[in-house]
Amino acid sequence: MNTIGEYMRERVDIILANGIIVTLGRKGIIYGGSIAIKDNRITAVGRSDEILSKYYSDEVIDVKGKVVLPGLIDLHVHNVQILLRGSFTDKLTALPPIWLNFLIPFEANLTPDQVKTASLLSMINMIKNGTTCFVEAGSPHPEKVAEAVLETGMRGIVTRSNIDLDPNIPMYTDTEKTIKENLKLYNEWHGRGNGRIEVWFSVREIMLNTIKLIDEFNKLAREKNTYITMHLAEDRVEVDFTLEKYGKRPVELMFERGYLNDRVLAVHMIFLDSRETVMVAKSGASIVWCPYVDSYLMGLSKAIDLLELNVTVGLGSDGGAWCNMDLFEQGRIARTAAKLLSNMISHDKTALPARTVLYMLTRNAAKAIHKLNLGVLEEGCLADIIVLDIDRSHLTPHYSIEEVIVNMARGSDVNTVIIDGKIVMRDRRILTVSEERVLKEFNRVSDKVEPLISELQKRVLKPGREKH
Ligand SMILES: [Zn+2]
Repeated sequence: MNTIGEYMRERVDIILANGIIVTLGRKGIIYGGSIAIKDNRITAVGRSDEILSKYYSDEVIDVKGKVVLPGLIDLHVHNVQILLRGSFTDKLTALPPIWLNFLIPFEANLTPDQVKTASLLSMINMIKNGTTCFVEAGSPHPEKVAEAVLETGMRGIVTRSNIDLDPNIPMYTDTEKTIKENLKLYNEWHGRGNGRIEVWFSVREIMLNTIKLIDEFNKLAREKNTYITMHLAEDRVEVDFTLEKYGKRPVELMFERGYLNDRVLAVHMIFLDSRETVMVAKSGASIVWCPYVDSYLMGLSKAIDLLELNVTVGLGSDGGAWCNMDLFEQGRIARTAAKLLSNMISHDKTALPARTVLYMLTRNAAKAIHKLNLGVLEEGCLADIIVLDIDRSHLTPHYSIEEVIVNMARGSDVNTVIIDGKIVMRDRRILTVSEERVLKEFNRVSDKVEPLISELQKRVLKPGREKH
């Protein structure tokens, strides 16, 4: 039965009560704050006395001693590559191009069921680290990635792995079929799961895609009001390739043809000359920096310079093969790289402030995927929210919440995850899928693909190629 007080208050679905709310928006940090959530939106954010006098709910979660943040956004994930976790020895990565010799033949051999199981485990990794939204870089059997988004309750941008330039490369489909398959994926999945699933187009690389396909994707993205993600300026051989084939450097080529524009999310962005850096700023494209993978595969992203030119930059893990998918850790690697560089070159200690890192993980990443109602905790925004335990030894004291989160927090400090207004993880237990069942199934799949990984490793490390 409702009390008299409840008749005067508005009923909502969830209230997070009495926490430290880091809104990253107009209201800054609210100590002793609460958030009211109805359907998939934030109804109100404010001081607890204000919120609790206006709203009531059957689901009040006490977040005293905890920090409430917008969910983190991973802008570059190869979901299936989690099957390769631990496979990349230094010997292997020292023999490029690893994408051509290893990643693409590997992905080409996966069955739909294997993609599904890998995607589920990848998404469990993300949720347990406080990531609520991701951009798939381009997957074989992408409908299985979409199914996993539906089941786990995540928010995900799904893309297909497109290879249409050279029939000798595994996963090749001709340009016409490639476009057809992308449209089929878009028509079947875009907007499903209450809008949690979006379908974009993926340019896997200029070395793997025809200009005709890139041109069609640009037209289709405008027509369908969707977007494009592309690996760009990632590899030294890519620069040589475009210079030889088109007489231009990669970013120069894309910019001059109008293919680097405000519908593009460009990933890595390492090998840019100073002219190309200006082109990116003019283009309106957003950028993904994958600080860990970049550091040991290719080099250092130009993201630091691009940030200074007001380009929207977010972070990516590049998937579970390379790292544990903890974006707090990626933020620290980015900060370390930026500070190392600025200290060495300019004797400047102020590079990449904590707030910028926090923005790159949340509101700037949301802007990069054109979701202005995400990445901040404000009235009317989508309810993608994470709760961190802050009263822990490695996070104490926390005079400056932002500094402590960016410098010390770990994905495993995330206690509760809400996505699209639904509780997806509570007290570190995932509620949407059985972690135990997925892990069991994943182990069965990884046993099956292990011979394929060994075969590819042997092929790459054939006698005479080994350096060490
Ligand atoms: Zn990638």
